[in-house]
Amino acid sequence: MSFEITFLGASGGPIEGVTCSMLLKPSSVSYNDILSNNLPNELICIDAGSGIGLLSELIYNELHDISPLSRQLRIYNNMLSLEQCFKTKITRPFAELSNSISPYEQSQEIFKLMNNYLISHAHMDHIAGLVINSASFCQESPKNVYGSKGTIDALQRHIFNGLVWPNMAKFNMVKLSSHEYWQTFSINDTYSVTIFDLSHGKMLSNDEKTSQRAESPNYLHNSYDDNFENYHNYISSAFLVTHELSNSSVLIFGDFESDAVSRLGKNKRIWCKIAPMFLQPEKQLKGIILECSTCQIVSTNELYGHIMPTHLINELRALNDEILAILPSSSRQNVTPLAGFNVVINHVKETPNLSDPRREILHELEVLNDKYKLGIHFSIALNGASIVL
Ligand SMILES: [Zn+2]
Ligand SMILES: [Zn+2]
Repeated sequence: MSFEITFLGASGGPIEGVTCSMLLKPSSVSYNDILSNNLPNELICIDAGSGIGLLSELIYNELHDISPLSRQLRIYNNMLSLEQCFKTKITRPFAELSNSISPYEQSQEIFKLMNNYLISHAHMDHIAGLVINSASFCQESPKNVYGSKGTIDALQRHIFNGLVWPNMAKFNMVKLSSHEYWQTFSINDTYSVTIFDLSHGKMLSNDEKTSQRAESPNYLHNSYDDNFENYHNYISSAFLVTHELSNSSVLIFGDFESDAVSRLGKNKRIWCKIAPMFLQPEKQLKGIILECSTCQIVSTNELYGHIMPTHLINELRALNDEILAILPSSSRQNVTPLAGFNVVINHVKETPNLSDPRREILHELEVLNDKYKLGIHFSIALNGASIVL
């Protein structure tokens, strides 16, 4: 079985309204099936930086045969075409919807049936759509929001706290559900999800914040310094999502940094965990979706907990090595275990250049892909694009 994934938002900011959010369902199930046969459990939303608004726009564009990327196409002079971005099959899943109701109403109908959200971490670019859209949720069927304990605590304490936003959990509009890292949980017996911890940069420890708050009202504006003892790692999450009936999986990362920067080895643990999936006769891991926020920059201090092409390639080489290490030594010669495997990049940070930064990032990744003879099929996500994995 393959997945159909719609990138509602694929951007890492700073442009608002188009940040990371993707819809996932089996490709064999259409949105008409979901709407008419009421198959809400087949559809999940992973991260929610954007939501109903972008889906309305996307439905309008597909019903009127306008490029799904029209908004993004307008902000750069030198944009990649859809076909240049993806090595996967590109689809238009909303073109078949009825146009007897408005795109906004169609979008509302789909989100009414969207009962399950996976949130990788509580940064605003991954939750803004969920928060704003929650004004349309209803108490009869509260939305399940799954994440790590840290993510769920942050949503409850700092967002749904009655100050920043109404306490939607108390009003039974959302059901916040926290899960331990490296544990697997089931979503309505349709998907099983394993949640992995990722390092996403350094932040001031609470003790240090308290002392700095006492000393300076501007403590929040302090930038990184060399005294790393004052910091701890901000933890984000990856999700291994498995469709239970078919046993097909996709691995989706939230924001993260390279092990070479964090020195915590969190990514290596994930590569060890998934390496055996590459030896299955039926390749059940359909692809990996992860960030590569910027093109190559010199200083890791400018990454702020994100990934650039050399780091990403080194991470994927580490995965390659883990797969080779579990192969019998006699069959390791000339094997390229990642050849043809789909890796989709998202969360690119927009830059005010003439060209879309995706063009440079994809180019840098392809050069390194060739250099290390990995044979990976790299794609780079665009807001509004749908693909089959
Ligand atoms: Zn982000
Ligand atoms: Zn983040």
